[in-house]
Amino acid sequence: MSYNVNEKGYYGEFGGAYIPEMLYPNVEELRQNYLKIMAESSFKEEFDQLLKDYVGRPSPLYLAKRLSEKYNTNIYLKREDLNHTGAHKINNTIGQILVAKRLGKHRIIAETGAGQHGVATATVCALMGLECIVYMGEIDIARQAPNVARMKMLGAKVVPALSGSRTLKDATNEAIRDWINHPVDTHYIIGSAIGPHPYPDMVTRFQSVISEEIKWQLKEQLGRENPDYVVACIGGGSNAAGTYYHFLHEEAVQIIAVEAAGLGIDSGESAATSVLGKEGIIHGCKTLLMQTKDGQITEPYSISAGLDYPGVGPMHAHLSKTGRAEFMSITDADAMKAGLELCQLEGIIPAIETAHALAIFEYKKFKKDDLVVVSLSGRGDKDLNTYIDYFKL
Ligand SMILES: *Cc1c(COP(=O)(O)O)cnc(C)c1O
Repeated sequence: MSYNVNEKGYYGEFGGAYIPEMLYPNVEELRQNYLKIMAESSFKEEFDQLLKDYVGRPSPLYLAKRLSEKYNTNIYLKREDLNHTGAHKINNTIGQILVAKRLGKHRIIAETGAGQHGVATATVCALMGLECIVYMGEIDIARQAPNVARMKMLGAKVVPALSGSRTLKDATNEAIRDWINHPVDTHYIIGSAIGPHPYPDMVTRFQSVISEEIKWQLKEQLGRENPDYVVACIGGGSNAAGTYYHFLHEEAVQIIAVEAAGLGIDSGESAATSVLGKEGIIHGCKTLLMQTKDGQITEPYSISAGLDYPGVGPMHAHLSKTGRAEFMSITDADAMKAGLELCQLEGIIPAIETAHALAIFEYKKFKKDDLVVVSLSGRGDKDLNTYIDYFKL
């Protein structure tokens, strides 16, 4: 069984490129060139150099002693929270902007929900001196003022999406419309392991630096390359895809994927796609997504903006369907508790997305000598107001 993408752009039955005809030339140009570009030595050099000197990689692999003691196992945290801009998203935006430059694009567009991907994109556009336009739902612009301010300071133009529910999916529609109208000079930076082929694979490859580092860091610290478990939270699935990538075909490594259950799986306010999702098409790929009987996409809900997505990337749909990954869903309440626990046991304030991954230790018992690596996908600064409101701090 292969868990990688095949030459047609599928992971098992999921993936592909379901796009309007007018978008075909853009996506096809990318498909024909991304692997070639990524294999060029000048590309690798520039990418590696920026990851080192700009992002601050390698990110530490840290044995969380007090957390491990509490749960009677060995928990290592992969510290993506220490990256420049505070999360894993920058690994992907740096990779894509280098591809865009080599394709001769000088205008970058992106969509953003909570604003984290918008900030990561605006950051690399400033770094490269490229024009940056970020589409964002009008409602999200009002909810996420600090990130809107960050994007503006970084020189990006934030364009409100005024149609539909005025949130992420409407921003995505605007970005696609823009790309159709600017096929020659524009690259669309997608922020997770989703979208039409080749995006899920390209994003996964850029994020795979996470598991590449975990391997040599474990070797250096413990003399072994493989943990017993790798754990990550899943919105669209980019930090998870990067954390799993080099372990996908290592049978001894068990994979745990953590989704947001929101107020509870059966509450109607959830984002637990692997449980509630059915096969359908979203953002240009066939995958599992939450939908009504008539096939309309259901509004997802989670307290964490980054997990508040109605689908999962096609790789994760395949991992779920084949049973290669164990999927767990964690409620808002359990995630918030786990977030606070990490603060008090380890002195690390995690993003609320990440806190979902940490909450599994209350539910799943590991053996004393198990080695569990958790992707600490981001830091909690951006979530301070949510923490303040929730815990009445
Ligand atoms: C965006 C985000 C996520 C969710 O996105 P994935 O593509 O599923 O990784 C998780 N954690 C943090 C900190 C994020 O900013």
